[in-house]
This record gives sequence, structure tokens and C-alpha cells, in this order.
Amino acid sequence: MAHDTPAPPPPPPTPILIIGAGPVGLFLALLLAQANLPVLLLEASTSPDPAPKAMTHLPSILPDFRAAGVYDALVAAARGLVDQGICFRDAQTGVVLAEMPRPGKGVGEGPLTVPQPTFCNILRQKLQEFPHVTLRAGVAVKSLTQQRNGVEVLAEAFSSSPSSSDTLTFTARYVVAADGAHSAVRTAAGIPFEGATLPRRLVACDVRYDFTGRAGWVGGNFLAGREWAGLVGPILAPEAGAEGEGEDEGDGVGEGIGEGVGNGKGKKTVGLWRVSFSVPEEEWLDTPAALDALVRQRLGKMLPEGGPDPLDACTIERVAPYRAQQLCAATFRKANVLLVGDAAHLTNPYAGLGLNTGLLDASSLATVLSAHLLRGAPPQLLDAWARARRDTFVNAVDPVSRAAFWSLLDPDVATLRERHPVLRAVGGGAGGGVGGRDGAVKGKPAKGPMALRTDVRALEGWVD
Ligand SMILES: Cc1cc2nc3c(=O)[nH]c(=O)nc-3n(C[C@H](O)[C@H](O)[C@H](O)COP(=O)(O)OP(=O)(O)OC[C@H]3O[C@@H](n4cnc5c(N)ncnc54)[C@H](O)[C@@H]3O)c2cc1C
Repeated sequence: MAHDTPAPPPPPPTPILIIGAGPVGLFLALLLAQANLPVLLLEASTSPDPAPKAMTHLPSILPDFRAAGVYDALVAAARGLVDQGICFRDAQTGVVLAEMPRPGKGVGEGPLTVPQPTFCNILRQKLQEFPHVTLRAGVAVKSLTQQRNGVEVLAEAFSSSPSSSDTLTFTARYVVAADGAHSAVRTAAGIPFEGATLPRRLVACDVRYDFTGRAGWVGGNFLAGREWAGLVGPILAPEAGAEGEGEDEGDGVGEGIGEGVGNGKGKKTVGLWRVSFSVPEEEWLDTPAALDALVRQRLGKMLPEGGPDPLDACTIERVAPYRAQQLCAATFRKANVLLVGDAAHLTNPYAGLGLNTGLLDASSLATVLSAHLLRGAPPQLLDAWARARRDTFVNAVDPVSRAAFWSLLDPDVATLRERHPVLRAVGGGAGGGVGGRDGAVKGKPAKGPMALRTDVRALEGWVD
């Protein structure tokens, strides 16, 4: 550099820094990129998370998938697991209590089942179309400082050698925390995470088992019972043309403890299903052997009969124990830090609202940030967004998810369908009509999930 040349002005700060390239961070990055806003995405991990955590996308988010141009790819990835219904069963007898066979009228109206890693892969591929989005993997945010008109973030970048790392500094006008349940950004911003841990552990098992062929089960099956309760639903449809014995070429999901339980034959000829159940805190034993015994005992009860010993016909691909938590950040905006997804709220998965709510945070935030940064909407719009999204969690997601969780543990299963709001909602209420299989309530599509969306145009400060 020549001495008489004035130093170039510093580059403008990145307008938007997203911390965490999980499903919510990736979706937000895509929507902001499509609005022509430059984005820097920092992700601590160097490889995508293969765990098929969430897999059901509810109708409320489908319009955003279409607008983002990923809907067709997601339908293709769902391999037929589209628009499937839900069913409540007595856990002990298998009798159907209430069912909503097909909530929509065809592809595009009902839920879409795509495991989380596949969903993230589709978003990552789509993001490659936008050169103004940069994803830096292996960069973990450690702390931040709010400045007058932005945020400075300190991060640790891991090089190829695991023992060495560099400290990096980034500045941005806005930082969005999409860094999950243990959000370092939320902690660094001093935002409390409030709520309750439910007195039950959850165990999610991903198994290859022919629920449909053996017992005619499709879609989400909720098992209600005094002694134990759970949820059985498909993650991946059987692979077309997959035959033979035990060859697993990898579908990017489902590796972990429990590998190899069962006979392992013809893994891909049957679908991958989530079998999830809850365990009272006082019965929990924190050893691998105890977990293994518990999983075998529960699967022995939860897998429907219809042939040889169910456990012999089942391959367990993954077992994930975790705590059921209902937590919410005290605010979703503190100065120039904004919270979305699990960084903002946590809920048990029995209503399928965790990821869906996070994706709706992302789509509404992308719209208000665009209005603010590109069309001059005042910062009050961000406050109004933060209040609206927090209200949605507190008033809609949290109570519905808790009710879904406890409904399955109701001691009086016989009268559950008359008493419980979740089953009444599934059954379509008084007008839903009684008289399905075994006297089960036959349902109509519930309109509830659309209430999870935020009408951003009605928020204070909105500018067209
Ligand atoms: C077993 C199981 C089943 C579930 N089933 C459902 C379901 O059926 N329906 C549903 O809606 N939800 C479900 N969920 C919840 C769902 O998986 C989460 O809501 C979802 O993963 C949240 O996405 P996210 O992007 O907000 O956070 P995450 O997926 O946690 O992603 C956060 C990202 O941030 C990165 N990160 C973390 N810290 C830092 C840091 N300091 N710096 C940089 N990067 C960082 C992480 O590596 C990660 O990639 C389930 C969860 C589990 C565990």
C-alpha cells in the first residue's frame, strides 16, 4: 500500500448476522437473501447434524415454503408422506379414540413429513443460488457487545487442528440468535429463559418397523394411557426398489446408540418411524443398560402385533433421551439482538409445534427486517414483531403443547374424547360427528395451526 494513498474506508458492517445454521437459521437466511439483504451465517459445527429430530411440517408454514421456492423439493423429499392424518389410540388396548384421517384435500393442504437433516440440506442447496449469503462453519459465538447502532460479536473459529482456534470479531447492525436451546447469544444478551421442565423424560426412538403393513397405521398415532403414553409417526417412507438384507447405504439420518437392535433385515424395505414415549422422572435411570432395557420393554408394548415377535421385526436406528421443557425467552428483542426458534422458545414435541413455530418466527422476521432495512419502517416494528411472536408462543403454542402432552397421560382414557380439548379439536368439536371405527370421534381438519402465523402487516410500524 502506498504511503500517500488515504486508507480505504472500513467495509460497512454486515447488515444481518445469523448465529446458528440449524433449520430456523437457514430458513431465515434464505428468506432474507431472497429479499436481497446480505447475510452472514455463523455455525459452530463443521458438519450438518444428522439427527432426524423434527419431521412434520404443519399447514401453517406451507405458504412460506412455496414463496421461498422450496415446496416442490420438499414434497419430492417426503416420498409420499404428505397430507397424512392423525389418530388417538388407547395405549393399552389399541382401540381408536379419535381420528382425523386426512386433514387436507390433497398435496399442499395437509402436513408434510421431511426429516430435519433432509430439510436442512434442501435449504443449504437453495442458498447456493445467492452469492450475498455467506455461511461460515466451525465458528462458535462466545460473547457480544451491544453498540450504539449495532452489535459486536466475539467468536472462536476452529481450524483443521482440533487443538487450535482463533478468536474472530464480527460487527453487524442486527444479530439474530438461531443458535438453539442453549443459545450463547441469548445468554450473552442477558435475556432470561423462563418456564418449566415437565416431570417426565422423553425418549425418541427411530425404528424400522412395518407399522402400515402389520397394523394399517399411517400418519401420527398418539397412544394415551395411565401407565405410559407415546407417539408413533413416520419419518421416512420405504425406499423405492430397496430390497435385500440389511444393506444400509445411509440416508443421512438416524445414526446413534441403539444401532443394530432387532434383526436388521431388509432395513430399507420398511419405513423409518419415530416411536416416542415419556417416563416419570422418579423412574429414570441414567445408565446405557437401563435405557436399553427400558426401550426394549416399551417397544414390546408399543409396536402393534400382526406377525412374529415385534421386537424381532424391528431395527432400532437411534435412541435419543431428553427432558420435556416449556421455556420462553423474556423478550425476543433486546436492542439489536433478535431471537428465533429454539433460542427463543422450547416446547415438548407432542403437538409438533417446536420447529414449526421457529420457522414462522423466521418468515415473519424476514418480512419485518426487509420492511425496516429496505423501506424505512421504524425499529418499533421489530418490537411489535417480538411481542407478537412471544404472545403466540405463550398464548397458543405453550398451552396447546402442554395439553397434548398431558392428554396422553390422562388416567381416564375411556372418557378422554368427550373431555379433552385436544381430542375434541381433532374430532372437530360437537359438529365433528361421532361414529368412526370402534365408536371413535371422526374429525374435520382443525384450523388451529394457522393461528400460529403473525400478520405482519397489522403490526405497529408496518410500512408497505
Ligand atoms: C427428538 C426430537 C423430536 C422433535 N420432533 C419435533 C416435531 O415433530 N415437530 C417439531 O416442530 N419440532 C420437533 N422437535 C424440535 C425441533 O427439532 C427444534 O425445534 C429445531 O431443531 C429448532 O431449530 P433451530 O434452528 O431453532 O435450532 P437447532 O436445530 O438447535 O439449531 C441451532 C444451530 O445453532 C448452532 N449453534 C449452537 N450454538 C452456537 C454458537 N454459539 N455459535 C454458532 N452456532 C451455534 C448449532 O450447531 C445448530 O446447528 C424435535 C426435537 C427433538 C430433539
